[in-house]
Parts: sequence; structure tokens; C-alpha cells
Amino acid sequence: MLRTGEDYLKAIAVRKNVEIFVMGKEVKDITQDPFLKPSVMAFKATYDAAWEDDTRELARAKSPFINEEINRFVHIHQSPEDLAAKVKLLRKLTHKTGACFQRCVGWDALNTLYIVTKMMKADGRPEYYERFTDYLKYVQRNDLALAGAMTDAKGVRSLKPSQQPNKDAYVRVKEVTSDGIIVSGAKANITGVAATEEIIVLPTRAMGQEDAEYAVAFAVPTDSPGVKIVVGRQVNDARRFEGGDIDGVPYAFNHEGLVIFDDVFVPKERVFLLKEPKYTVPIVEIFSAYHRQGYGGCKAGLGDILIGASLNLAKQLGIEKAPHVQEKLTEMIFYTETMYAAGIAASLNAVKLCEDCYWVNPLEANITKHWVARLPAILNQLAVDIAGGAVGTAPSEWDLKNPKLRSYIEKYFQGVTEFTAEDRLRMTRLVENVGLGVAFQIESIHGAGSPAAQRITFNRVYDFSYAEEIAKRLAGMKNNLVWKKEAEPWRGTETERMASQTMKNKS
Ligand code: SF4
Ligand code: FE
Repeated sequence: MLRTGEDYLKAIAVRKNVEIFVMGKEVKDITQDPFLKPSVMAFKATYDAAWEDDTRELARAKSPFINEEINRFVHIHQSPEDLAAKVKLLRKLTHKTGACFQRCVGWDALNTLYIVTKMMKADGRPEYYERFTDYLKYVQRNDLALAGAMTDAKGVRSLKPSQQPNKDAYVRVKEVTSDGIIVSGAKANITGVAATEEIIVLPTRAMGQEDAEYAVAFAVPTDSPGVKIVVGRQVNDARRFEGGDIDGVPYAFNHEGLVIFDDVFVPKERVFLLKEPKYTVPIVEIFSAYHRQGYGGCKAGLGDILIGASLNLAKQLGIEKAPHVQEKLTEMIFYTETMYAAGIAASLNAVKLCEDCYWVNPLEANITKHWVARLPAILNQLAVDIAGGAVGTAPSEWDLKNPKLRSYIEKYFQGVTEFTAEDRLRMTRLVENVGLGVAFQIESIHGAGSPAAQRITFNRVYDFSYAEEIAKRLAGMKNNLVWKKEAEPWRGTETERMASQTMKNKS
């Protein structure tokens, strides 16, 4: 079933037992809550995309599991082109929301579990794959809004889950019953979680046998008994309570939350990994690369918004022809397209792990995310440089709306006469909210894994010795070069090694 945005709003408003807290207060209907409404509107855009002319094709896909047209956000990628369509859709959707629309994490979790449960099936344990594909069909038939929950509370970072003084620092299986499991712990920084119907939980790190009780993957409805969501704060978030239409972020916004699992029961049919730490390795590798690829789309989309806003403000100030402004705008294109190009490369250079398991190119996906960890700060710097100090000093919309002040603000905040002071205030706020917002500045650094995690992957995957042998041969030195078919000098990943031992032969 393909839902409309309105269908989604209705479904999200009637969740019965959700326990969501915003700034210490419990919120029942988030569609009416000023703090969370912008986040709901961003999520809604992923549903609207399947019906709007310019995104319809990108936002729909044919599911081979239920043989129906579905929203791409619940699709299992069937080709490199599907992966590229993801990046393109993300860029376009960012243009519509001006924000992170939060639905990709659950989508990446679905694709990860599809591949890993298939791996387990090929390893002789088909039950996880069967449970997961049943769940997938349920999600696709109902076009559900999913959260992907990976990052644990983590406690002492230098200690493994089983060594932690707090036993719940990582989500764990507290009890196995005849019909399911009871889980305890918390997942942190979970994108969009209050606006979802289901939470898919994955382990956050590779684990050994000593951490078996932490090697667990499952899905629960967001309103399951014992699930509590504490929504995090963001820069300028209290402006949403002001009720304005300029300062108060009238367009969409995202949120992140802490999800607490207070002895939550998970029925057996929703458990996709249980105490099998070996599979935490491909789960972490596959998921992180999928999400790192996606950033090439949505963060490039935010770059486009900053380019457009900077150009418009330059026009408002009468400086759009100044060589230094043109130079900065050119530089902004360079950074924006670099992020996008890396995401597209990670898609089209996909790694095929089995007949219908298309994983992104893990090296290029990590390169994408690493650019994303750096370039938004520079893009913001350039946008603020063009926009001027007003980004940090502009009067409020309440000053503009005060009859005693309005004529003064109009007189002194206006640049060229084709634009009004209100135009300038609106565009300046856009630069402030997008450029300095959590999605562009904080999430770009830490979302989908912190920069150090990407550098570890570079070093693990890149085949230094192969590159050295190439150089030795060209320099006329003695060498042990054995040519590889691939253009990239890389060693491959643990996931590929596991897949080639199992699925490639059996699927
Ligand atoms: Fe999607 Fe980007 Fe938001 Fe991640 S940060 S959920 S990829 S829009
Ligand atoms: Fe993210």
C-alpha cells in the first residue's frame, strides 16, 4: 500500500500508548505539538514524495516481496540504480523540507537485516530470514514509518558491553522466554523516533562471544509497553513555541531522541538476531556504509539551499556581481557536488553480496561521509560570509511586527529596493537555521558514525601493499605484483568475506 502524507499524519496521531517526553513534559499527539510538528512535517514529505509529479518516479519502487508498488523508503535495493535513486531522492527531498526527514535510518536497517538474515539462512539458520521477510512484507504492505536504532548509551567507551559497570549501557537480552525475549537498555541519538510507528534495533558494534547477550536485533512498535522516548534539544528550538512564522522555523525540522527499553517484551517473530555475535560484524559494516552513502544526497541538498540563500542575500545586498562573492558561490558548488558525487559513486559501484543483495561500495560510502563530516562547516562559513553579520544579529520577527518599530526595521534592514526587510529577515533566518542547524553541523560530523570510524574503514579496506607493488613495478624495482581485476586497490571487507563463504555459493 502506498500511503499519502495525510494517511501518515492520521496514523501517527492515534498511537495509543506512546511515551514521548519533550522538555520534561509528556506529549501524546505529536502532530499537535509545536516542538515536534516540524519533525512530523519532514517525515510526511517522504510520503508526499510518492504522489508529487517531480518525485513520484524516484519515490516509488516495485517490491518483489509483495509484488506491489511501494514507497522507496521501505524498498530492498535491487540494483546499483536503486542505490543511486536513493541518493537522488534524498537530495530532492531535502530541497522540499530544508531538513533531515528522518526516514532513511529505518530504511537502511531494513536493507541491512535483509542481507544479514539471508547470510544466516545460507549458514543453515533460515528462521531469522523467514521472520524478517514476514516483517518486511508487513512493513511494505502498510508503508510504515520506521526508526533505525543503533547507537547505544555506551557508558565507558573503552569497555566492552559485558565489562560495563552499568549492565544496560548496551541494549541486552535480559531474559529469553518461550515466546520471545525481554530487552533492557537504551539507544541514543535516534533520528525521528517520536514520529515513527516501529523501531528497528540493531547492535552498535562488533562483538565477541563474551558479549553474546548484547548481540540482538529486533523490531517493536514505537508504542510498545516499556518504550520511553526522551526528545533531545536543538539550537534555537524554543523559538518553535513562539508561534511565529519567520523566527519559529515554519518549515520542517528533524529531532533525535533517547529511546529507553524498560524491560520490553519482543515476540519471537520479531527477533532477527539472538546471541549470535558473529553477525554483529556484517550488521555494523553494512548498516554504517548504507547510511554514510545516503548523506551524499541529503547533505548535498542542504548545500543547495545554502547556495540559493547566499545568492539571494547577495542580491538583496547588491553584491552578487562582486568577484569575491562569485568565487565563494563557485566554491560552494564544488563542495556540494563533491558530497553528491561520492554518494553516487558509492551507489553505482555497488557490491553485490548475493543475487538480490546490493550493498553500497563501502570504501566510497565512507569517503562520502568523511567529506560530509568536513564540508558543511566550510559551506556554512561561506554562506555566513556572504550573508553578513546579520545571521547573528538580525532583529526578531516580533520587532518587525511591532507597529512602533516596523517602519524603522523596514527602513534599516532593507538592502536593494526589489526586496523588503522582511525578505531579508526570512532569508537570513534560513541561513541561520539550515547552516547552523543540527542536521548540517552536528549530524554531519557524528551521524552514521564519527569521523574516526570512517578513517578506520579506509585503512582496513584500502590495500596499501597492492598500491606499493604497483609503484615498485613502475619504478623498475623488484616486486610481487599480482594484478587484480578491480580498479580500486582494496582488500574488501569482512562482510564480503563472510558473504562469499556462504551466500555466493548457495543463494
Ligand atoms: Fe536521511 Fe540524511 Fe536524515 Fe540520515 S541525515 S535520516 S540520510 S535525511
Ligand atoms: Fe543521520
